[in-house]
Amino acid sequence: MDHIVTLNAGSSSLKFGLFARQGDAPVPICTGLVDRIGGAEASVSLRGPDGGKLSEEVSDMIPDHESAQDRVLTLLQRQFPAARIAAVGHRVVHGGPDNDRPIILTPDGLRALEQLEPFAPLHQPYNLAGARAAMGRFPEATQVVCFDTAFHRHHPWVNDTFALPTEYYDIGVRRYGFHGLSYQYIAGHLAQTAPELHSGRVIVAHLGNGASMCAMRAGQSVGSTMGFSALDGLPMGTRCGQLDPGVMLYLMEQKGMGAAEISDLLYRKSGLLGLSGLSSDMRTLEQSDTTEARRAIEYFTFRARRELGSLAAVLGGLDAVVFTGGIGENSARVRAQICADMAWLGIELDAQSNDASARVVSTAASGVQVMVIPTNEELVIARAAAEMSA
Ligand code: ADP
Repeated sequence: MDHIVTLNAGSSSLKFGLFARQGDAPVPICTGLVDRIGGAEASVSLRGPDGGKLSEEVSDMIPDHESAQDRVLTLLQRQFPAARIAAVGHRVVHGGPDNDRPIILTPDGLRALEQLEPFAPLHQPYNLAGARAAMGRFPEATQVVCFDTAFHRHHPWVNDTFALPTEYYDIGVRRYGFHGLSYQYIAGHLAQTAPELHSGRVIVAHLGNGASMCAMRAGQSVGSTMGFSALDGLPMGTRCGQLDPGVMLYLMEQKGMGAAEISDLLYRKSGLLGLSGLSSDMRTLEQSDTTEARRAIEYFTFRARRELGSLAAVLGGLDAVVFTGGIGENSARVRAQICADMAWLGIELDAQSNDASARVVSTAASGVQVMVIPTNEELVIARAAAEMSA
């Protein structure tokens, strides 16, 4: 039987999945993570489709993505000796203004995606390093690339632009939007399980280490909180979210900070970590009783409430809210704080089902259905890889 590998390469990590191809429908076999690539000590873990741990090893240094893929391949061959890799699906953060769907990767296509590296310098080079390594490692397999920006490509022009002179739009300074694979999964899931909501007005809150919200009408993105980069919108684990651009001018002109220093501040030292001075991890903050930790959560949920109201205005009303991502799926406190006093919008949370992170966490009388749906970006990639390599 043919198999599909999914790869999601970050700066120092490589998430992967193995799927069996049965017709067009990939069946998950395992997922895994190579962590701390380039660090003194790396780790490689493997989980079954139910999330149960299959193996975990701490290893010597794994210097780069090529070596990480070697480790993954060795591990998969050892655990699943009959697997024959027919396709590799890659998550790539940026597809530019034109890519509105997955593509089959060729050497020319890879060069075109390299041109987009300046648009996402902290993500795109690592994604492409992973793709490059896989082309060498699995030369017989079809390489399929799925873009985080693709889902938003048909959003309205007003949500695609900034109020800058139009020549900046023409050179690519646009609101691209990200987390598209997660939104695509949720849209597909709603189409299957709640078609009446799928055809209506839905806001999806993807709240993980990265966080954004997307307004969907009939399963299509019409607006999102992330824009040109993965910095805008909601505050995140270590990223600032919405920021007055005047702050950056002040830091440059008055505080003498350079681009690298500001980038480090906005991407790595801000968000929940910056506000709490403690951690970027929501679980740690929820367990802490410091004022700063409480305030970090308060700011996170306050900004989410503002964006929820703003996106409801974009949609002209609201039929459903979906929470997903590590925080959205698991934190009853965050969901409750975001939905508090939202009766004016038709949102009424049911405390008991919210505490249990049930599939529906709103009351029967709530005008807006509030749902918790675990996302599955790997499955979206695997489906695209199965379809395009058939
Ligand atoms: P990524 O964006 O890296 O994929 P995840 O979607 O896994 O991240 O989300 C990670 C976030 O989810 C962390 O802030 C973590 O603390 C939070 N999280 C996971 N489980 C819980 C939980 N039970 N309660 C609160 N927060 C949680």
